[in-house]
Amino acid sequence: MLTDYYQSKNYVERLCSGPTGPYLAQFGDALWEAGYAEITARRHIRAAQHLICWGQSHRIPLAKMDDIQVERFKRHLSRCRCLSVGTRAYGCSDRRALVTGMHLFIGHLQRVNVIPHCADHVKNGCASTVILPR
Ligand SMILES: [Zn+2]
Repeated sequence: MLTDYYQSKNYVERLCSGPTGPYLAQFGDALWEAGYAEITARRHIRAAQHLICWGQSHRIPLAKMDDIQVERFKRHLSRCRCLSVGTRAYGCSDRRALVTGMHLFIGHLQRVNVIPHCADHVKNGCASTVILPR
């Protein structure tokens, strides 16, 4: 649960606000149930926030996050100027971790039927879309 990963009640409320808040909360729950450590879960949640922020700035709803948009987001990372809540930059130096978190979030959205399942991921057994217990 998000409250297990963040001490600030205000921060959790901000994460859960808005139309995408419930999805972040569900994602946090899924990470918690899978046993993710706080630092790793926060990194993945931040990646999800970043994807949401980028999507909103490009008017791309979560339901339309397909492989094309995912590739656009990855290209965006090298020139990212996004700011998270307040004025903090997201920080894209660990691009590999960010992409992993983004894929976990996309996989979560597929499991809760916000995004259609990708046929290639099913066919290829893509592990990046599954939140594996640690
Ligand atoms: Zn960005």
